[in-house]
Amino acid sequence: MPFKLTKEQTLGTTDQHVVELSQVLSRGTFVHREMADAFLLLQQEAKQAGFDICIASGFRNFERQLAIWNAKFNNLRPALDRQQQVIDMTNLTDWEKAQAILTYSALPGTSRHHWGTDIDIYDKNAVHADYQLQLVPSEYTQGPFIKLSKWIMANSAKFGFYLPYQSDNAGVAPEPWHLSYQPLSSQYQDALQQNPQWLIDYLSTSDIGGKQAIIDNIEQILSHYVFNITPADRMI
Ligand SMILES: [Zn+2]
Repeated sequence: MPFKLTKEQTLGTTDQHVVELSQVLSRGTFVHREMADAFLLLQQEAKQAGFDICIASGFRNFERQLAIWNAKFNNLRPALDRQQQVIDMTNLTDWEKAQAILTYSALPGTSRHHWGTDIDIYDKNAVHADYQLQLVPSEYTQGPFIKLSKWIMANSAKFGFYLPYQSDNAGVAPEPWHLSYQPLSSQYQDALQQNPQWLIDYLSTSDIGGKQAIIDNIEQILSHYVFNITPADRMI
């Protein structure tokens, strides 16, 4: 059955477009079914170069993103600033809280992980089995995954992948571990860009923290945090 993009896939309210990766280490990881083969090819070539690329996070649905958002909004889970310091949320307005969360966590309905086209990766060969992955930039710019990072920048494009959060565009902080499968993710991105009302309508019915502030500022959220990425053709 050929893939057909829908509103539900774009907002992460369905899982009909994703499949579970079959390898033992990847069990429990779901990716877009039209992307899995490209990832396996990239993984194979990386293996020849000495890397064991694993996925820390693949498909994530709206509900999961909502749980992350609400936990941070309600101070049950720390929201960090760009210096990795915990932000004290107690005296912030709802809009200020939302902006604080958006540096590291997507607004539910706008996460690229909803699409199944985007994955967070690391190199299992570079660390001990008991290594606690933190997903902070220093692990990729000077820590254990610096070699992987360089390999990805040099090789991912031929498999269709790129790094949308490669540089600091002052919206989402850099995420050198986040890979996107451009042939599909560009379609979801366009769909969201052309249909912001899908998002507004769905958020209106959800129990998201800061709902009114989010809806009042939705255009700014989309332009500053969602579409403000490093384009596929501008990888260095
Ligand atoms: Zn990610």
